[in-house]
Amino acid sequence: MWRRIFIILAMFFWGAVSHGAAIINDTEIEQYLTELVAPLGDAAGIAQNRLKIYIVHDDDFNAFVRGGEDVFIYTGLLTQIKSPAAIQAVVAHEMGHTIGGHMAQMSARMDVEMRRAMVIQALGVGLMVAGGNPSLGAGVLAGSSGVATQSMMAFSRDEERMADNLGVDLMMRAGQDPNGFITVFEQMADITGAAESRVNPNRINHPMTAERLKNVREYIAKNPPKSLPDEKTVARRAAQYERVRAKLIGYLEPLGRVQDRYPASDKSDAAIYARAIANMRGGNLESARVGVGTLIGRAPKNPYYYELLGDIEYQFGHYDDSVLAYERALELGGDAPQIQTALGLVLAERNKPGDRDRAVALCRSVILRAPTPLAYWVMARGFGPDDGRSDWAMAEFYHINGNADMAARHARRAQKRLERGTPEYIKAGELVKKK
Ligand SMILES: [Zn+2]
Repeated sequence: MWRRIFIILAMFFWGAVSHGAAIINDTEIEQYLTELVAPLGDAAGIAQNRLKIYIVHDDDFNAFVRGGEDVFIYTGLLTQIKSPAAIQAVVAHEMGHTIGGHMAQMSARMDVEMRRAMVIQALGVGLMVAGGNPSLGAGVLAGSSGVATQSMMAFSRDEERMADNLGVDLMMRAGQDPNGFITVFEQMADITGAAESRVNPNRINHPMTAERLKNVREYIAKNPPKSLPDEKTVARRAAQYERVRAKLIGYLEPLGRVQDRYPASDKSDAAIYARAIANMRGGNLESARVGVGTLIGRAPKNPYYYELLGDIEYQFGHYDDSVLAYERALELGGDAPQIQTALGLVLAERNKPGDRDRAVALCRSVILRAPTPLAYWVMARGFGPDDGRSDWAMAEFYHINGNADMAARHARRAQKRLERGTPEYIKAGELVKKK
């Protein structure tokens, strides 16, 4: 595990009442990370569709792998780490713990805790909806992570070194650059200088960064990589990473800090992206639209720029323009669930003939692949207040958010209003039973 102070601790999510603890849903970032991690998964023998990336909204410099297939990467790591190869190294190290069998005893217990407490947030349109719905996206808005951590176990010094070595092996088998490990350890040495004094030596048995750095350097020198990603791939990943980082910073950091990090003089895509997002959050919609217009001019095939344009037009109240932008984003990017949900939301609000049916269909398509609270919330709006199915959708929304009382209340209301035996009636019945 890689915490800010790289103590080897298991991470737990507590179902905080504030619902701050959160997994962030964002298609652009998830796809980027999936592509980065997929070669490692292949080399580790994990079937490609089983590998799942979760972005944890937390400032810690951390990542971990659960059950060998669920990769959790913290926003604190994503916004600070130096290179895509370094991200891969962190994940490879965590996979090294799995391959080494270090996780066997704790995974079951962790699984229960985590599933109970995971709350899913979306960037973009999720933030807008949050205003009207305190239980959704509140953590992002407040800027508080609410993820509590607790020390459960420490890996031994030997296990750490083994995970490093297995991770380096994995990187090489995957044809990725193991020097990412060196980048990370060098960075960790910087980060931990101050933090190390807080480490309680009785609880932690952990090799110092310098020792791990030395070990990895020697290991790579002894086993030089046979193949590395080609230059084009490296350059593309680096440019994408700049945008991914800018997006996270644009959404998650206070506006002042976004401007410090990406001053107006910076004309890079990443900087314009971060400022456009921050401007949208701050209500400077004209500036936001100018920024995204520049980006679209530079990269007219990038679906996520159209997604942002759709968000901005929606903020303006320009529903028609927003719909067009999201439709373009979907054309370019495939059926990205977040964009489908966003389009559904705008359609449900615009409410021209056929709009709400389309909104419901979009949400169904999202939920079939991976249910999210936001998709149910939008679906309820698609059904409209006069339809009992909207009560069922809200029951599912509260159920996913871990609010059993509200889930049951809406489910009972749905049953009262729906015809017996309809699919929504039956699903509502299941939610009442779960209470
Ligand atoms: Zn470790």
